[in-house]
Amino acid sequence: MILNRQRSVFGRSLRSPHTCLPCIPIRHKQTSAYKAFLEEAKKKKDKEENERKYQKKKSTKAFKFTSSAFIFVATLGVGYSQGRLQVLNQPPKSLFPETSTAPVDDIRSPYYANEGEFEKACKLIERVVGPNGFTDSDAEINGHADSYYSCMHPEPDQKPDLVVYVRSTAQVSKIMDICHRFNVPVVPYCGGTSIEGQYISTRGGIVLDFSKMADIVKFNEEDRTLTVQAGATWQDLEEFLKPSGLLFGPDPGPGAQIGGMVATSCSGTNAYRYGTMKENVVSLKVVLSDGTVVDTGSSNSGYDLTRLIVGSEGTLGLVTEATLRLAPRPKAETVALVSFDNVFNAVQAAQDIISRGIPLNAIELLNAKSVFYVNQSGLLHKKLEEKPTLLMKIGGASQSLLDETVKITRKITKTHNETAFKFASNEEEMDQLWMARKVLYWSNLEYAKKAAGPDVNAWTTDVAVPISALPKMVDQFEKELDKSGIIGSIIGHVGDGNFHALLMYTQDQKEAATNLVSRMVDQSLKLEGTSTGEHGIGYHKREFLIEEVGQTSVDTMRKLKMVLDSKRILNPDKVIVVDRSEPQPDRSE
Ligand SMILES: Cc1cc2nc3c(=O)[nH]c(=O)nc-3n(C[C@H](O)[C@H](O)[C@H](O)COP(=O)(O)OP(=O)(O)OC[C@H]3O[C@@H](n4cnc5c(N)ncnc54)[C@H](O)[C@@H]3O)c2cc1C
Repeated sequence: MILNRQRSVFGRSLRSPHTCLPCIPIRHKQTSAYKAFLEEAKKKKDKEENERKYQKKKSTKAFKFTSSAFIFVATLGVGYSQGRLQVLNQPPKSLFPETSTAPVDDIRSPYYANEGEFEKACKLIERVVGPNGFTDSDAEINGHADSYYSCMHPEPDQKPDLVVYVRSTAQVSKIMDICHRFNVPVVPYCGGTSIEGQYISTRGGIVLDFSKMADIVKFNEEDRTLTVQAGATWQDLEEFLKPSGLLFGPDPGPGAQIGGMVATSCSGTNAYRYGTMKENVVSLKVVLSDGTVVDTGSSNSGYDLTRLIVGSEGTLGLVTEATLRLAPRPKAETVALVSFDNVFNAVQAAQDIISRGIPLNAIELLNAKSVFYVNQSGLLHKKLEEKPTLLMKIGGASQSLLDETVKITRKITKTHNETAFKFASNEEEMDQLWMARKVLYWSNLEYAKKAAGPDVNAWTTDVAVPISALPKMVDQFEKELDKSGIIGSIIGHVGDGNFHALLMYTQDQKEAATNLVSRMVDQSLKLEGTSTGEHGIGYHKREFLIEEVGQTSVDTMRKLKMVLDSKRILNPDKVIVVDRSEPQPDRSE
């Protein structure tokens, strides 16, 4: 007990460590034995004294060492926090340039996981998704690397190393945390229908497939909003919404899913009436590159994070849920198909119809060749006039109002020298006429395969020009297409000046097709149009983006990218160049 109390808080004894000299009686007679005893005692004392000195020296040394170590560590600590403060106050310019823009030459090349790091990350990902939640089978890897529709195909080594199927926002967040720690590139993937090389795995890494996250989360009929997971297709939504009398507008390629549709800011034939994704997304749930989950919110306060993510092509964050705006279905609707002798008349008629406020739900232009391919397919009950054609969905609040609108439309098209006017009087006829638009891609492809061989490649691309410039654009491109000998067609969502070209080229015609697309974009930019209509920038149109919006705007976009994804692991190399040492894709082969 006493001993315990004598212990200091550090557990060291407070007693002196020394042993005392044995007590010698002073008045004792000095015998030889006594002398020997004294010598022995002295020796012992000397030895103890030496031992004490040695111990003292040792403990001084230890003390010196400990204190030096302490000073060293403390200096390091102080140095670190000072350095940290210094970094925070004055960050090194190579890491955090103070400029508002980030030209690619001013930023370091990204570092991506080596094999060992990738393996470690994969083991952790397996714990998140389970043994059946991922695959590296050739079929799945190839299926997530490319598609037939894509206008340019990846190099043989541009493939993901692993495909991971996610099922919840929480899983996506955990996976991003892992990938962020190990610098693993991540390419998000939904329906795989994008066209401009948007999901090419330029750096290997993983593809996150959202198709198993396809639940309806919340349907708010009164407020006309629907919250869905990223993997739901727009056709799923159409099925779900039909009985409610509501609809969701954007209708891009068949099989496209909400995550990819948000990421490409897609539109479709209904965009004229209902807008593109930009107008139809209320808010998003997004996982950022380090795994942080953000609700972008729907209020007007603060920065508009929703619109920042829409159209960002998976480069700024991963969409796991979207709340979408719905519209009432038209009470009455019909489809009208009108033919003209030339594209100028067709586009002028379209302009006239639009400017007179006719309630159109969609308006599409097909050139004469397009109608020819549709006729060749034999998919329609009756053949159509092979002339430039306007296909319109006309809506009305009631059948009588609709009938009246059709009459007015007819009057307008007559003044532009229509050569045929058909309109559907029931749902079946509507489907038949509208089918001319829906089957065009497959009809053109089918025809090209028969005419040019089964290995023909498809290149679908688009630009948008002011509607006044559309006739000139279509006319010029048609002539160039004819001259090139490439089988192709032109369709346009005329309502918003969107102009699509479908090119079916053989391997020998690849260069000619590339030049044709370059000239199409140049021509569009000259006519104050854009480098892309609705298909996005992806991997292939990055240089056109610079031409269109200018280097400063692209450098500002890169700054945003660096802020949200400084490791550049999210869909690398899309929309903007993120690595100054990136080899540029070879377009000349
Ligand atoms: C026959 C045909 C017709 C088409 N018609 C039209 C049309 O009329 N209008 C139109 O706009 N487009 C059209 N498209 C293009 C295409 O359908 C659209 O771009 C569509 O929006 C792509 O959706 P997706 O689910 O297939 O996305 P994907 O191809 O899977 O991905 C597209 C991009 O989004 C990213 N991404 C995927 N999932 C996510 C996610 N969860 N979070 C963040 N980023 C993600 C991908 O990395 C990629 O960059 C057409 C395509 C075809 C083949």
